[in-house]
Amino acid sequence: MVLRILPMLIVRTFLQIRALQKTWQQKGLSVGFVPTMGCLHEGHLSIIRQSRAETDITVCSIFVNPKQFNDPEDFKKYPRTTSQDIVLLSGEGCQVLYLPEVDDVYPPHLNTTLAYTPGVLAETLEGRFRPGHFQGMAEVVKRLLDIVQPHRLFMGQKDFQQFLIVKDMIAWYKLPVQIIQSPTVREESGLAMSSRNVRLTPEWKHNAPAIYAALTQGKDRLLQGVHPREVEETVIGQLTDAGFRVEYATVVSPDTLQPLDRITASSSALFCVAAWAGNIRLIDNIVW
Ligand code: AMP
Repeated sequence: MVLRILPMLIVRTFLQIRALQKTWQQKGLSVGFVPTMGCLHEGHLSIIRQSRAETDITVCSIFVNPKQFNDPEDFKKYPRTTSQDIVLLSGEGCQVLYLPEVDDVYPPHLNTTLAYTPGVLAETLEGRFRPGHFQGMAEVVKRLLDIVQPHRLFMGQKDFQQFLIVKDMIAWYKLPVQIIQSPTVREESGLAMSSRNVRLTPEWKHNAPAIYAALTQGKDRLLQGVHPREVEETVIGQLTDAGFRVEYATVVSPDTLQPLDRITASSSALFCVAAWAGNIRLIDNIVW
């Protein structure tokens, strides 16, 4: 059998994507979309594989969106490894990489401000510590969806609140796209993969798996009937003792993100943590 491996197209402008879109539409091909900020790791690649398995055409975008960084220093230092990303994406059979400049996503003449606002979903957890982050995130995802017009949008469980807000926005605009959540991919140590992990010092790389360990122990205690506030305090204590600066460790409803006061065997819950490992901010969660 002869395998025909097509090279990945790298496109820089939304007009190029529109032109491709037309031909896909004419051929009746389904399109999966995986938006990223690059510095790709196994977590991103597992999403690409999922999209490849479920759709005809997989489009990935790499765009470090200035609007969702509340800290300009974080934006400046965000790792950028485009050449390596291109090799990884082609290796997974991703057909199109959209690699725009800022002006292509936010053309000066175009008002990309959204009528949609994330509301209460953006007021808790990350929203309390990263003002404006979700508005900026929603704005770029809406713009990217308008450009790519995928049938399926794939996003990671690691950024659970982001997923929920995008889902809410899709419903609000009644966009004809199905949003699909991909499970969190972890290092063998349990540390959730993240582009920011490359900036961890060797000591912090060694310590950072404590976050997932604390979350899983916390889940066991919650299922044994320990009160969520007590479990949260234990996790904060454990991580603080391990040298982290914890911003939150909170047990919430995975639908509303509001704190839960009681966990039963049949109830679902989301346990989220954000903590600074030195000068790198890490987030993680488990959901059941
Ligand atoms: P980012 O490049 O960090 O904006 O992430 C792009 C997409 O990959 C988002 O939908 C993330 O939720 C997802 N993602 C990031 N890290 C992981 C991971 N460890 N496992 C699965 N998905 C991830």
